[in-house]
Amino acid sequence: MERLSWHQYFMAQSHLLALRSTCDRLTVGATITRDNRIIAGGYNGSISGGVHCSDEGCYVIDGHCVRTIHAEMNAILQCAKFGVPTEGATIYVTHFPCLQCCKAIIQSGIKKVYYAKDYRNHPYAVQLFQEANVHTEQIELDEMILEAKGKEKLEFIAELLNRLTEAGVNEEEVKTFYEKASALFSD
Ligand SMILES: [Zn+2]
Ligand SMILES: [Zn+2]
Repeated sequence: MERLSWHQYFMAQSHLLALRSTCDRLTVGATITRDNRIIAGGYNGSISGGVHCSDEGCYVIDGHCVRTIHAEMNAILQCAKFGVPTEGATIYVTHFPCLQCCKAIIQSGIKKVYYAKDYRNHPYAVQLFQEANVHTEQIELDEMILEAKGKEKLEFIAELLNRLTEAGVNEEEVKTFYEKASALFSD
């Protein structure tokens, strides 16, 4: 069995956290690690005990929902709350951080940012990360790892399609099956 990499493990954790988001505008998750240990996690949500966007609708000012605290910020604040150092830490985020989170990440001493998806990557955020020597890198989540036997299923379908071709089934038809399978497994 192939061992899951730390990158994929922490990125998967951030994607799980994103599912806890209470603001539907963008579901984001963030995981802070040090020495390959998770020290904090966060998702897009209201302050503790506050009403949720998912119940009351977003509170939008100038095109932004002002009710929510971003995932990265929540994770950093969790460290502040419990006195956990973030100096030299790493953060795994589902989306490229916004400008505010970028500044908070730099100021908290986090040195590496791994993000799964580009999201309106602000040129100033990119510049600030560079100037602060914060390593940023895109690590896409291989979603197959979240599915039990995902690899076996893929291999089985590939085998099946091969046999169909060998058995002389119409090439066009096999191609349609192949495209359907590809679409199913790509998202
Ligand atoms: Zn909202
Ligand atoms: Zn943000």
